[in-house]
Amino acid sequence: MSDDLSALDLERVQALLPVYAMEGPRYTSYPTAPVWSEDYGVDDFRGELAREDAGPDDGLSIYAHVPFCRSLCHYCACNKVITRKPELPLRYLDSIERELDAVAEAVRVPRPATQVHWGGGTPTYLTPQQVTRLHGAVRARFPMAPGAEISIEVDPRVTTSEHVAALRESGFNRISMGVQDFEPKVQEAIHRVQSYEETAELVVQSRAAGFESVNFDLIYGLPYQTEESFGRTLDRVLDVSPDRLALYSYAHVTWVAKQQRGFERKDLPPAEAKMRIFFSALRRLLDAGYCFIGLDHFAKPEDELSRALEERTLRRNFMGHTTQAGVDLLGFGPSAISELRGSYAQSQRDLGAWHEAVATTGVATLRGHRLSGDDVERRFIIGRIMCLGELRAAEFEAEFAKPFAAGYARELAALEPAARDGLVECSDDGSLRVTALGRLLVRNVAMAFDAYLPQQLGAGRPMFSKTV
Ligand code: SF4
Repeated sequence: MSDDLSALDLERVQALLPVYAMEGPRYTSYPTAPVWSEDYGVDDFRGELAREDAGPDDGLSIYAHVPFCRSLCHYCACNKVITRKPELPLRYLDSIERELDAVAEAVRVPRPATQVHWGGGTPTYLTPQQVTRLHGAVRARFPMAPGAEISIEVDPRVTTSEHVAALRESGFNRISMGVQDFEPKVQEAIHRVQSYEETAELVVQSRAAGFESVNFDLIYGLPYQTEESFGRTLDRVLDVSPDRLALYSYAHVTWVAKQQRGFERKDLPPAEAKMRIFFSALRRLLDAGYCFIGLDHFAKPEDELSRALEERTLRRNFMGHTTQAGVDLLGFGPSAISELRGSYAQSQRDLGAWHEAVATTGVATLRGHRLSGDDVERRFIIGRIMCLGELRAAEFEAEFAKPFAAGYARELAALEPAARDGLVECSDDGSLRVTALGRLLVRNVAMAFDAYLPQQLGAGRPMFSKTV
């Protein structure tokens, strides 16, 4: 099987979809969020934060969730509050400062931030002054490490040149723009009308202000999209040449985002059509010189994600692919997730409940999960497959001091059909290598190692989006 993505044959991929287009996790964590429980609470989280083996040289990754948006995009399954009220961010800023205080106090020794990311919602719903206040509040509790990666997701429709200036002045060096699709018919159907001109202008302003990296988020599989229409969107995207691109598969998860039900009356592309759109986009982006980082990410060859893939240091967390291996992630704001060495913790999702919890206990943990020894092993395996497209038995054995093939014989046997279909190649010692074909269906390969999945898929209610 060739490793060459550009040599893949669409017919061959399409023929596999009846078997592999199924419900499955995206593995931003293992175990996945449906496994977490409210048995894990505030005290557990505080205990994990104070762990003794972390020192002042152990960097932190900080995530701030800003939940406000001016209008609802109908595809969106994020945790957000649709509002035009200017007073909501003021109360939010008061609470997040309290939350930052409580968490900073629980972290035993002061630790620097090597990575900061703001997501939402729409972080630039905040005014430029509020942006400066929030970043100042983060920096006052967690000093920025030299060269820290400081990034923000913005909606070009509400982001002004004053925002760009305030962000740069605060030290933000990466900017990620929500785009999704430039076609008017698609934009109307998804209730997100955003011109190419305003987006391109924001790119120009961001580069002139000194942002090191500009990312675009696109979505394929939206109503009325076709291979041709998405090709026109890509023409315009390539005109401004973003440094990174996320090309997300539209996740139809109506049990989370009820407004998506309206799409069922529209022309939602089925799995074969989605794959055709993705396949064509993949070819275009490879031809344009981008590297396929995996799953839904592309980057220019000189980008550090491309280098991390090459050097096998690429990892994955709630913010997507990252070069920050093994760094504790602290999440702030409603629904934010923290990922510590031994556990996951998620804050209250509802804005009111989050305010109340912060006012009462400082931290707002709603649920979480403490990893068992088995979880840690499987997280290692799934992480390697999702990020690097391989699992080396010798690396597993060095990490866990036990034989891989004997311990995971059942999972390796379950992968035999995928090996026959050309998705994965297995060696005698159990080492796995995901082929070029398998990289398009990598979630299916990783799923073989998920101990919780059989029960979840048998629960009779949907929990995950489709793998295609
Ligand atoms: S896609 Fe972004 S801007 Fe639109 S509703 Fe969701 S979070 Fe808000």
